[in-house]
Amino acid sequence: MSEKNKAVFLDMQGTLGGTGIDDISNFDFYPFAIEAIKELNRNDILAVLTTNQSNISRGYLSQKDFDDKILFLKRKLCENGAHFDGVYCCPHTKEDNCSCKKPLTGMVDKVVKELNIDVKNSFVVGDMGMSDIVLARNVGAKGILVLTGVGKGSLSEFRHTWEQYEADYIAENVLEAVKWILKTSNENSI
Ligand SMILES: [Mg+2]
Ligand SMILES: [Zn+2]
Repeated sequence: MSEKNKAVFLDMQGTLGGTGIDDISNFDFYPFAIEAIKELNRNDILAVLTTNQSNISRGYLSQKDFDDKILFLKRKLCENGAHFDGVYCCPHTKEDNCSCKKPLTGMVDKVVKELNIDVKNSFVVGDMGMSDIVLARNVGAKGILVLTGVGKGSLSEFRHTWEQYEADYIAENVLEAVKWILKTSNENSI
């Protein structure tokens, strides 16, 4: 019997580091983000980075600079005994009419196939309601909004951009989000 994997689809800027609206040149992990990923690894929940990087299509960020940054982050995780199970990036702008720019489901659809994911028992964690929480709804996963990055703005001045949606949980940060996920997962498996 092949059992399906549970995954957490992690947003990058504003969730794992940075301010949420910054470009990635100065991006580095929040210290607690490494711990959060480590907790997922320990509990056999796949940690999958899913990020929109429209600056690539706009020509402000090269694919190589993005790849180099990911390599830097992977090394840092490795030094701390943690890892990503997958890294998926949408390089497009809205005008490119792709199917992968969050909240569209292209990236998650791909992960579900490639990594054999049980999407109903999986989670999207992010700081932007209109992309991360709406994505969770679009794929049928649970959505957790973090208050780092633009998370607080998502609940106030930008609430109208995802007003028909609710987060399943609102967490201070990604580590608290992961703790909630582990608690929820354990309750469901009893
Ligand atoms: Mg973000
Ligand atoms: Zn795309």
